[in-house]
Amino acid sequence: MSDRIYNFSAGPAVLPEPVVKRAQQDVWNIAGSGIGILEHSHRGKVFERIIAEAEENCRHLAGIPGNYRVLFIQGSASLQFAMVPMNFLSPGRVADYLVTGVWAEKAVKEAKAIGTVHEAASGKAFKFTRIPNAAEIRYSPNPVYVHLTTNNTIYGTQWTAEPAVPKGVPLIADTSSDIFSRPIDVTRYGLIYAGAQKNLGPAGVALVIIRDDLIEAGSTGLPAILQYRAHAVERSLYNTAPTFGIYVMGEVFKWIRESGGLQAMARRNAEKAAILYDYLDDGTFYRGVAEAGSRSLMNVCFCAPTEQLDEQFANEAAKRGLSGLKGHRSAGGMRASIYNAFPKAGVEALVAFMKEFERAHRSAPATAARA
Ligand code: PMP
Repeated sequence: MSDRIYNFSAGPAVLPEPVVKRAQQDVWNIAGSGIGILEHSHRGKVFERIIAEAEENCRHLAGIPGNYRVLFIQGSASLQFAMVPMNFLSPGRVADYLVTGVWAEKAVKEAKAIGTVHEAASGKAFKFTRIPNAAEIRYSPNPVYVHLTTNNTIYGTQWTAEPAVPKGVPLIADTSSDIFSRPIDVTRYGLIYAGAQKNLGPAGVALVIIRDDLIEAGSTGLPAILQYRAHAVERSLYNTAPTFGIYVMGEVFKWIRESGGLQAMARRNAEKAAILYDYLDDGTFYRGVAEAGSRSLMNVCFCAPTEQLDEQFANEAAKRGLSGLKGHRSAGGMRASIYNAFPKAGVEALVAFMKEFERAHRSAPATAARA
């Protein structure tokens, strides 16, 4: 019997079991080298091969064209919130942001520290419970880029397709919480970034997929470490790369490939999320937070009839080996994060617990009564 429990954490989050098991061995001795992955030089042959393979598998998975670089950059998505405007938001220009949650707001805040920002749409008025529709988006006359957050981890909403952007304007996406959960047409974007710790690996490294012309267009006045150019020229080895994070990402890419690629991930994720949403739709005790049509397949947010019951739910679930279900502190309620590596059996176990909890507390007022 496994001593692991179901981990619904929003991130750092569950990783594929074979990857974790393999990493245990490779920490001791990787590729028969007699040295563990944590101890290898980032400039040695063993790591050179790891990073080359990671890039190769990443390119294969997402069908990344030759005019895009794949970069592994230390730091997190929050560093990308800053690097994006530092590189591209030059004086006199305006950057457009589609504001669909707290993470998008944080990206805006960093951009405002650098230059002029236009909020082309904001879901704040409806508490970020849905993605703005096309009619609600108003771009500025000539934005230097448009930034969006593909999946809103806190509210459990997700864009189902890229919004139209003005012709020739690069779309820049924070895909931290849904990267490689479904096929992605990289050519629709100028830059895609994601912190690793949800769908790709451990915290501390971000994946950046960037088109060559944006590397060229980036500011040359920044410290090198903050320029995409430096990371591209040095093939992610400008500084001592986050070797372990890159290694784990590489193993996750291999696992996705072996599991059938992004199409297969999308199918599995849709199936897992449907188990939860169907149950939410069928009853009146719990209430799903996101509006139908904007629902995330990665983070399923819901509440019980009262805040007290929310609290009780999360605590009792944890005692049953269903961990990490408490919603984000800014949203409350519950959140089940069911990224690529999260098993279907864990979703079924959650629904079984939800039914049981509902039976025990059915006399509570319907969730509709809650503000
Ligand atoms: N963007 C999104 C969509 C996120 O969910 C998060 C973290 N949960 C971040 C950015 C920030 O990531 P980090 O803390 O790694 O900078």
